[in-house]
Amino acid sequence: MNKKMPVLFTFDLDGETLWRCRDPENANRPVTLSQGRYGPEAGMPRILKMLKNHGLHATFFVPGFTADQYQDLMRQITAEGHEIGNHGWTHTYPDNMGGYEAEKKEYWDCSDFIEKLLGFRPRGYRSPGWEFSPYSLDILEDMAEIEYSSNMMDSDKIKYLEYGGRKTGLVEIPIHWVLDDAAYWLYSLRTPGKAIQPLEAVENYWRAEFDALLEEFIEEVETEGDSDICYVLTCHPQIIGRPARMKMLDRLVDHMLGTGCVEFMTGIEAATRFKDKHRKAASVESAVE
Ligand SMILES: [Zn+2]
Repeated sequence: MNKKMPVLFTFDLDGETLWRCRDPENANRPVTLSQGRYGPEAGMPRILKMLKNHGLHATFFVPGFTADQYQDLMRQITAEGHEIGNHGWTHTYPDNMGGYEAEKKEYWDCSDFIEKLLGFRPRGYRSPGWEFSPYSLDILEDMAEIEYSSNMMDSDKIKYLEYGGRKTGLVEIPIHWVLDDAAYWLYSLRTPGKAIQPLEAVENYWRAEFDALLEEFIEEVETEGDSDICYVLTCHPQIIGRPARMKMLDRLVDHMLGTGCVEFMTGIEAATRFKDKHRKAASVESAVE
């Protein structure tokens, strides 16, 4: 088969902000904050090594606060060919940001800082709370450089972002809790009701989900000639970066590559390819008419 299913490994490099945003008191809890620092400090070297070993590129959504704390790491991520996406400044959830101006400042501050540090503005956006406020879409559409969002759970396919009857020019790269390490492993004394799930259970689920999506992708290519089905994994370096979990991720990559039917890519690569493909299809249609 000449078509390959896009596989996107996305990492939300939250660091301390994941804990600071949940409770302002966490700023005074050194152990809680250290759990966040595990991501950039212990998890990231393993993640970057694993990606390099396989020759893969991934997308890292980084809050400006964390990018500022770990500037050398940001340079390294970029130098190794990965993508940096906008993830707000403080990781405050959009519904708690306090209005249009405050939310706009979160996103602009993040992009301005990345530009100052690395020389480019992020082209993808992931909401820090996987939620939009009533203002999010207006703000994102006003940021001319933002080409895609990776936030919605209504599809297994890459498509244009559309909700509430509003069509946008932003490409939407779908996500879901079942393909998010936080759903299984985000844990602290202050996340009541949560339990750390067995490694094998998560491995089996992520692999089964991949196999099932690939089956549908192949079927759609055979019947319709192409497919926008994709596999998008969302991980947090402070969660997935543990040694045994990284071994699991490595096995998953081997399994995926072993099918010969997938192509790993960054968010912007997937969004650009989607736009090119659908632009071409539209121009062929209009030529036929
Ligand atoms: Zn995050």
